[in-house]
Amino acid sequence: AKADGRRTYRFFEAGMDQRAKARRSLELELRQAITDGSLETYYQPVLNIEDGKISSCEALLRWRHRERGMISPAEFIPIAEDSGLINELGQWVLNAACAEAVNWPAHVRVAVNISPVQFRSQSLSLNVAAALAASGLPASRLELEITEAVLIRDDAALDALHQLRKLGVRIALDDFGTGYSSLSYLQRFPFDKIKIDRSFIKDIAGPGASSSIVQAVVNIAAASDMMTTAEGVETEQQRNLLYILGCTEMQGYLFSPAISAADVRRLLLSHRAR
Ligand code: C2E
Ligand code: CA
Ligand code: CA
Ligand code: CA
Repeated sequence: AKADGRRTYRFFEAGMDQRAKARRSLELELRQAITDGSLETYYQPVLNIEDGKISSCEALLRWRHRERGMISPAEFIPIAEDSGLINELGQWVLNAACAEAVNWPAHVRVAVNISPVQFRSQSLSLNVAAALAASGLPASRLELEITEAVLIRDDAALDALHQLRKLGVRIALDDFGTGYSSLSYLQRFPFDKIKIDRSFIKDIAGPGASSSIVQAVVNIAAASDMMTTAEGVETEQQRNLLYILGCTEMQGYLFSPAISAADVRRLLLSHRAR
């Protein structure tokens, strides 16, 4: 039994070692990807629920790996966060998204995800200002999506938010309802928008509490002049319910997944012509 135990242990250790190696090589490849053109920002349209018009598009990173095909951001963003590479990666996305959005109709904003790691970096507002200056995009057309994880930190987070707000960019609270959610965050900082996590939208037509929760969030947001975006809207039924609940915007496969920059340009042109 003792020998078996040791063998199991060694096996486990070898497994860990392999995983660490795979992660390390992915990290090196990711570093390269930032400069070799295998990273691309896709954009997912966000629509006004009432009139169906596109109000913004969210930049979502795509990595086309030479051998492994498309790698999901859910897989490589955490690696970038652990290795510190996220700052470079995040700046790349900011620059790319601002440069792209300048080509869009002037009423369409671009939303960019900001990792908590990036958020804590002292230079975030400088970096955002640099991306705006380099692209010529007006600050009012850039929306930064941050998650609740950054808010549980401390007052420094609030200072950082106010600093960004001073630049004139809009701030959205992403994935609301997951993690450390607390309604008190909504009182501590005046967000422009709350994005309600897909997990609530998925069950909104079901018997559970999801629709009541969405209703509560929408009401609180409306009372504080914040917009609400429902994430992951996939069915007409969900859309209709969200409309009745008073949610202002929606995003999801019902209308469109994230698409390439070229496709989004075409979409915005035809959309405007409607
Ligand atoms: P997120 O910010 O919550 O983005 C929404 C995710 O839901 C996207 O996945 C989007 O493609 C997916 N989605 C949109 N509509 C639907 C729908 O109707 N049904 C379903 N099932 N899914 C839908 P994606 O592109 O794989 O991104 C995953 C996450 O990776 C993002 O979640 C975000 O947290 C992170 N991410 C992506 N790009 C960036 C980036 O540039 N910077 C940072 N820091 N994180 C990023
Ligand atoms: Ca987001
Ligand atoms: Ca989200
Ligand atoms: Ca999410």
